[in-house]
Amino acid sequence: MLRVDGVTVRFGSVEAVSDASLEIADGSVVALLGPSGCGKSTLLRAVAGLEPAAGRVSWDGTDLAGVPVHKRGFGLVFQDGQLFPHRDVAGNVAFGLRMAGVERAERDARVESLLELVGLGGYGKRRVTELSGGEQQRVALARALAPRPRLLLLDEPLSALDRALREQLAVDLARLLRTAGTTALVVTHDHDEAFTLADRVAVMRAGRIVQTGQPDDVWRCPADESTAEFLGCGT
Ligand code: ATP
Ligand code: MG
Repeated sequence: MLRVDGVTVRFGSVEAVSDASLEIADGSVVALLGPSGCGKSTLLRAVAGLEPAAGRVSWDGTDLAGVPVHKRGFGLVFQDGQLFPHRDVAGNVAFGLRMAGVERAERDARVESLLELVGLGGYGKRRVTELSGGEQQRVALARALAPRPRLLLLDEPLSALDRALREQLAVDLARLLRTAGTTALVVTHDHDEAFTLADRVAVMRAGRIVQTGQPDDVWRCPADESTAEFLGCGT
């Protein structure tokens, strides 16, 4: 289980994240929701180990301070999938497995089943530069899932896509995360997406987590007026 206790991130005089605390139970998906600039990405990066932070990030009681990004066992997907353009689809998905020393046969099998899972069965030999944005995001997702991370960190993985594709992929992603029993933290500023994907929602504003709860409860009883306004409740 991931625990974030009183995490604060400062950039000079700006406090981008203030005293944020959060828990993610094994196998559950938490959406971090809030307006642009409220500190969502910064908090995610602090959890990943990409941003120096005060406070504590721990996994099953073990403090992760000093544990470098690649040793945390987390998978990361950002807004723009950042694939390796000179590798084909399979080469991208297999990348982390090769690093982890997974045998060739096991690697090939895992890559093929992951491509099936994200709806890209048979795409292994395609060049990633020839794929659509939505297909590229699916490859990025498969690549992040390949080493079987204990936690998946997704920062607006669908926001570069158009509305229709985003809605479709959000449904696919929700199914995929549940099927695989993945523990995940998903950053989004789209409440529909948060509600589709997550078991729990954490609402952030101006660096603070102002409310945490099940999507329905947050929707029915927003913590305050600005949260209600942001969610568009009653409109
Ligand atoms: P968005 O929805 O637009 O992605 P966000 O909620 O992810 O926004 P962050 O990117 O976490 O917001 O930024 C939070 C605050 O921290 C902003 O005021 C931003 O300008 C500031 N900030 C983020 N990264 C840095 C940095 N590297 N240096 C200085 N300030 C930063
Ligand atoms: Mg962001």
